[in-house]
Order: sequence, then C-alpha cells, then structure tokens
Amino acid sequence: MAKIGFLGLGEMGTPMASRLLHAGHEVVVWNRSVERTAPLAKEGTAVASTPAKAAAGREFVITMLATPEALEQVLFGAEGLAPALLAGQVLIDMSTVGPDEARSAAARLPKGAPLVDAPVRGSVPQAASGRLDIFVGAADQDYERVRPILEALGSVRHTGGPGSGAAMKLVANLALGAAMVTLGEALSLGESFELQRNVLLDVLGDSPIGPIVKAKRANVESGQFAPSFKLRHAAKDLRLVMETAAARGRDLKQARANRAWFDEAAERGAADLDFSAVVATIDKEEHRG
Ligand code: NAP
Repeated sequence: MAKIGFLGLGEMGTPMASRLLHAGHEVVVWNRSVERTAPLAKEGTAVASTPAKAAAGREFVITMLATPEALEQVLFGAEGLAPALLAGQVLIDMSTVGPDEARSAAARLPKGAPLVDAPVRGSVPQAASGRLDIFVGAADQDYERVRPILEALGSVRHTGGPGSGAAMKLVANLALGAAMVTLGEALSLGESFELQRNVLLDVLGDSPIGPIVKAKRANVESGQFAPSFKLRHAAKDLRLVMETAAARGRDLKQARANRAWFDEAAERGAADLDFSAVVATIDKEEHRG
C-alpha cells in the first residue's frame, strides 16, 4: 500500500480519493476550498493546508484539477507542489489539460520527479465505482510504478510516452463533444418536422450516437441538467482541442462548430450545469431562424 497525496476534490476528485483510501492506501488530501475536504477527512484521510505540504513524505501525488491554469497555480503558485517534490516522487496528473501543458509542466519539475499524465474517461458514477478508463502517458518504468495505484480507479491503458495520455483524452473528448452537439441538432431537426421527442430519442438511441443518448436521455427529457461533467469543462476541452490542433497545423471545422455551441451555452448561463445542457441551448427559440 502506498502513501498518496491527492489534490483537487471536485466532482471527480472526491470519489477518486475515497476509492484510493478504501483500497488501503494512506491518503492526504488538499483542496483550494477547504470545506470540500470535510467528507474525505470524515472517511479517514489527513488534510494538508498547502499543496507543498500534501507532497511531504508521499510516494505519489495525484492532481485532479479543473484546467491547465488551475494546474499551473497548484504546481507553481504560492506554496506550490512543484518545488516541494523530491527525486523518486511521482506526480500523476489526472486532470484534462492537454499534451502541451502536461509536457510543459513535466519539464519544470525537479530532476528525478516525473510527471505521468493520466486523464480519465467516464464521469462521477464511474469514478465512484472504479470503472474509469485511464489513459496513461509515461516512460515504461514510470508506467509500471503507477499502474497498481491507478488500477483501483479503473482500467488502465498505456498510450505511449509522456504527454500521450493527455493527447488521447483530447481525442476522446472531441468525439464526446461532437456526439452531444449532434444529439441537440438531431432533436432540433426532428422537432422542426413535428416528430415526437420520445420517438426521436428511441431512434437516436439506436444510431451511432446511441451511447450519449442513453447516458443523457433522462436529462434531456426532464430538462434538468444537474452537473456530472460540467459544461464549462466540455467548453474548455474543445478550446484545448482547437488550440493544440492549430499548433499542429490542423483545421478541425466540425470541432470548431461544436465548440461554438458549448461556448454559447456557457455564455447563456449553463457553464455550471451538465454538458448535456447544450441540447437546451440548441433548442432555443432564437435558433429557429
Ligand atoms: P470540478 O468539480 O469543477 O472541480 C475542479 C477542481 O479544481 C476543484 O477541486 C477546484 O477547487 C479545483 N480548482 C479550480 N481552479 C483552481 C485553481 N485556480 N487553483 C486550485 N484549484 C482549483 O471538476 P471535475 O468535474 O472534478 O473535473 C476535474 C477534471 O477532470 C477536469 O479537468 C475535467 O475536465 C476532467 N474530467 C471531468 C469529468 C466529469 O465527468 N466530471 C470526466 C472526465 C474528466 P475548488 O473546490 O476550490 O473550486
């Protein structure tokens, strides 16, 4: 069993840290808003008062933060994690930050302290039940060190060297964003034909976007979008898709259009709702021409 520091107790980080604790690891947690540490402390973790302190004496430190900017703050800001890391400690970043940030942060860590990028596919229920898909970018020897830790959280796939896990996650979320927007536009078209929504959802459930229809049908039918995967994060992921693609000379026209829908939904107040709330934005009166 390992000594683990876990930083970032949001929707995903809280159940993930809990699983590691219940797998028998010794876990210290840190979160920017200290009140979010209370449920974990009740379960038996220690609570660190700064990112740097969460690293002390740990073999592994895991970060599960919102954005590249949040990761920068936690690693390199005041009382940050990076200067506190010692050779032999492994930082596992499980946030979705893209390959450029993952590689840039890795290059600025102390010598001998590798950053393994290990973002996840799956949402809160999968995090709580240890069924995440984890994409791991790491040198072979680092992968072998982190694999037993990550297996408590889900199925682990070695995608290649450092940065490749973060890259794979953007590929996966390009597809996820496209499926969600396609559902919104398909419903909008179907309703313009005066087709019934429940029949539309049945038919789309057996289409290539079937998995997203099945996962989000209850939200769409109820018009309730309690956050599991926040829309602001879907918009951030498509921003990262576009930025990293542009840096490599790729012009992704469909991803650009999908990003515009998520950005518009965020501007209209849906940023902290589930990302399926983009369907409601697409369905708005003013988009009916
Ligand atoms: P969340 O609920 O919004 O939590 C975000 C976490 O980041 C919180 O701990 C928050 O701290 C922290 N944070 C934000 N800005 C910060 C800053 N400037 N400095 C320090 N800490 C900061 O997000 P989540 O749903 O857990 O997602 C975490 C990551 O996993 C994201 O990259 C997301 O894209 C990815 N992801 C999410 C899902 C999902 O279904 N939810 C699925 C796969 C991947 P506070 O509590 O203080 O705000």
